[in-house]
Amino acid sequence: MKIYRNLFIVISAVNGSNFQIEQQCPQCGAPIILDEADRILSCKFCRTHVYLATEDLFRFYIPPAQGISETIYFIPYWRIKGLSYTIGGMDISNKYFDINFLCLDSKLLPHSLGLRPQAMKLKFVGGNNDDTGKFIASSSNTREALLNNFRTHTSEPRQQEIFIGETVSVIYTPVYFANGCLCDAVLKSPFYPKIEEAAIRPALDSAPDEKWHVEFLPLLCPDCGADLPGGKDALTVFCGNCNSAWNPSTKNFTKVKYSAWQEQGDDITYLPFWQMKVKVSGFQLETYADLIKLANLPKAPSEEWTKTPFYFCAPAFKLNPVLFLRWCRQLTATPSPKDLTDDFPAKKIHQVTLPVNEALGSSILTLSSLIADKRHLADVAASLKFSLEDYSLVFHPFKISAGELVHTKLDFAMDSSALTLGSYL
Ligand SMILES: [Zn+2]
Ligand SMILES: [Zn+2]
Repeated sequence: MKIYRNLFIVISAVNGSNFQIEQQCPQCGAPIILDEADRILSCKFCRTHVYLATEDLFRFYIPPAQGISETIYFIPYWRIKGLSYTIGGMDISNKYFDINFLCLDSKLLPHSLGLRPQAMKLKFVGGNNDDTGKFIASSSNTREALLNNFRTHTSEPRQQEIFIGETVSVIYTPVYFANGCLCDAVLKSPFYPKIEEAAIRPALDSAPDEKWHVEFLPLLCPDCGADLPGGKDALTVFCGNCNSAWNPSTKNFTKVKYSAWQEQGDDITYLPFWQMKVKVSGFQLETYADLIKLANLPKAPSEEWTKTPFYFCAPAFKLNPVLFLRWCRQLTATPSPKDLTDDFPAKKIHQVTLPVNEALGSSILTLSSLIADKRHLADVAASLKFSLEDYSLVFHPFKISAGELVHTKLDFAMDSSALTLGSYL
């Protein structure tokens, strides 16, 4: 069997499935299967409950096939899965995307991982007995630089493409040399077209090694020491004892400001939204009155709105592209509520599953979709720079009624299956 090198990056419009990760319990060694999106490892044997943390990105590898005695090299690929929006012409179009591409500066290596069976289980880089071989450090290119590169290859001119990554990670695939050419160590067969050993081996041998390994953080509140519960894919964990919120995704726990728009009654579910103070280059967008003027919203100016701070809002959870943008637009166009409660026991909440730095990407979309005059949308959008100055989480109250989740204060509704299905729609 021969493997054809994909000259173009694999793009799948519907492939929403995740890889599974094999990992041993750090306490008792029991085998545990995690989903790619999981952040909390719970062991049912020893009751260990730890957060999987990294300074930047998770790095996984595809285990090589058995019985290869040659040196295995692990080649890094970016994997980005999430929402993609294109601003062009008079409109914003969207799609779901799932892409991977080479994370090294090499013209010889395959551009993408190629087709990999989704049933294949990955492992975390570092700390395994069977990962002997050379892990090539991923190039210093940032996610942004790579995405820009990707955009220039795929976008039409005069279009702007925005990615909101739900999953951004590095996946290593194993290769080795046999009979003078590079071979795939999963399928045990040479790449096609042939990649000569002499042309690529010196670069792989001299490349720096990857030193990364996953960190396990005990889930204890840094303020009061209480246990921090959380769904397995939670990016933010909440202390029910002292009502604090934490982001453990870097190696430290970072406190996250949060509040809730509380509602009376027992049957309320709270959904998290990022409320972001964003600086937009060249525009004054400090108050809600500024937004009305800039976007030409059909609202009468009022004295109060010149004193109402303006925030961009975005769901802090995964949602299909259409609903995601709709909620960004609706909540951003609504002045921020005044009666928010800081002292909120975060119970009956939907987990935070979309990080704020990814949600920030929605600002340009939200603004573009609010601006009434769409004639020069792509040009305007391309010239704007957005930077995050401050942020917090705001829980909004929803009630389930006739298969719909209804915002109890604003009366906006969404199909309740949108949440359980998340990005798989
Ligand atoms: Zn255990
Ligand atoms: Zn606490």
